[in-house]
Amino acid sequence: MTKSYDFDVLVIGAGPGGYHAAIRAAQLGLKTACAERESVGGVCLNVGCIPTKALLHAGDIRAEARHASDFGLQLAEQRMDIAKLNGWKDGIVKKLTGGVSGLFKANKVTHLIGNASFVDDHTVQVGDKTYTAASIIIATGSEPARLPGLDVDQQGIVDSTGALVMPDPVPARMLCVGGGVIGFEFAHIYNNMGSQVKVIEFLPTIIPGADADAVKAFQKSMEKQGIKVAVQTKANRAEKKQDGIHVELENVKTGEKSVEVFDRVLVAVGRRPRTDGLNPEKAGVTVTERGFVPADSKQRTNVPHIYSIGDVASNPMLAHKAMKEGLVAAEVIAGKPAEQDAVAIPGVVYTNPELAWVGLTEQEAKDKGYEVKIGNFPFAASGRAMTLQQTDGFVKMVVEKDTDLVLGVHIVGPRASDILSEASLALEMGATATDIALTIHAHPTLGEAMLEGAESAHKQAIHIVNR
Ligand SMILES: Cc1cc2nc3c(=O)[nH]c(=O)nc-3n(C[C@H](O)[C@H](O)[C@H](O)COP(=O)(O)OP(=O)(O)OC[C@H]3O[C@@H](n4cnc5c(N)ncnc54)[C@H](O)[C@@H]3O)c2cc1C
Repeated sequence: MTKSYDFDVLVIGAGPGGYHAAIRAAQLGLKTACAERESVGGVCLNVGCIPTKALLHAGDIRAEARHASDFGLQLAEQRMDIAKLNGWKDGIVKKLTGGVSGLFKANKVTHLIGNASFVDDHTVQVGDKTYTAASIIIATGSEPARLPGLDVDQQGIVDSTGALVMPDPVPARMLCVGGGVIGFEFAHIYNNMGSQVKVIEFLPTIIPGADADAVKAFQKSMEKQGIKVAVQTKANRAEKKQDGIHVELENVKTGEKSVEVFDRVLVAVGRRPRTDGLNPEKAGVTVTERGFVPADSKQRTNVPHIYSIGDVASNPMLAHKAMKEGLVAAEVIAGKPAEQDAVAIPGVVYTNPELAWVGLTEQEAKDKGYEVKIGNFPFAASGRAMTLQQTDGFVKMVVEKDTDLVLGVHIVGPRASDILSEASLALEMGATATDIALTIHAHPTLGEAMLEGAESAHKQAIHIVNR
């Protein structure tokens, strides 16, 4: 590596992708800087994964408290201190972003503050200073997609960032435009806080990409909790009036239009890659029509010493994918034989029950020509789920018929996100359903549903009648 550069590696963006890349590069002995124009931690820590999960937890406790009378716990009337809720959530964010800053210091990553933009393929301007680097990693992330007719003002009409500030009083009527992961997490939060929530989705099904059976069970559970769901429906425009936000909804199948009134409208119709202010063209870096900076499996862009990771590089826009790609980019720069070659990237909706999946859906497996057998174990038959008062959902395992290889696992249920890690490992290790069935799982645990799901694929589950 040439000594004449200011840094061996300059990372642009300190989100999950960027801070993983910077820390790993430093661990590998590279002189590293990371430029960030807002707060370290990126979307995930500041306005994404972490604050949503905090609000989801608070809402779940509130909902669970209502069921405590089943076992004799009589709680006084519920009162939510909204200012305290927002403050508690912000405190977690602060602690974690402070943690990232601390890790930068401990690993001797130079934190450059300001907007970073390319001057040429080895030079980046940050604020009013310029720095040179042998390798540069683009980790600028993504931002909410907009919808014509629904102007986000972060008051009545909000995007995910605006929706993270719980208003006082909690809105009586809430509309979530977009039935994806973010739309449903907020629907669940607001529903648990007492709002009457409606979710509309343009496509014929919610949570696109998830297994059809899992989505069906998930939707049923959300509706049981009071969330209204309308598919093949779009919002044309919204108008603020004295009595609320009037939204024109249209059934895209029949063309039928109606106006409904809400107190808060969330626009959660996807995210788009972010390269504003970056000037990638000055470095000769290719940006696609949709705004992505594409990379190969070693995270290299079309300019070999410039890398791209995380949301700005490709879908799926998930923190753990960004983190992994950050490690790969740093290791490739350090000359290690690293590559992004995951068998599958897990996906999770952190509602209650959660929806979590990894690998192929039943339909995808069939479309790829696999002959499959299906394992299915309902949480209604799980002793642990009963003790937690959370028996909605199941583990569905998609298994190749002849080889017994696990192709995909789809879970609707309590703590599905945590159970899923075993499924991810199974896929990466090329495990068969027999491998999972022969593994002793602690009893009573929710994870046993994986064991019984695998047994069920062999029609040998113990706690259900096998058909
Ligand atoms: C509401 C919500 C909930 C989510 N929940 C989850 C979840 O539970 N699990 C999950 O896996 N994912 C979740 N995500 C997605 C997750 O947040 C992203 O996938 C992840 O943050 C992507 O990481 P990244 O490093 O690619 O980019 P980002 O986190 O977007 O970080 C990019 C950083 O780069 C900075 N930046 C951009 N341009 C410049 C520039 N020119 N100069 C300097 N700095 C710049 C930005 O300020 C930002 O801090 C959620 C997202 C949202 C919105």
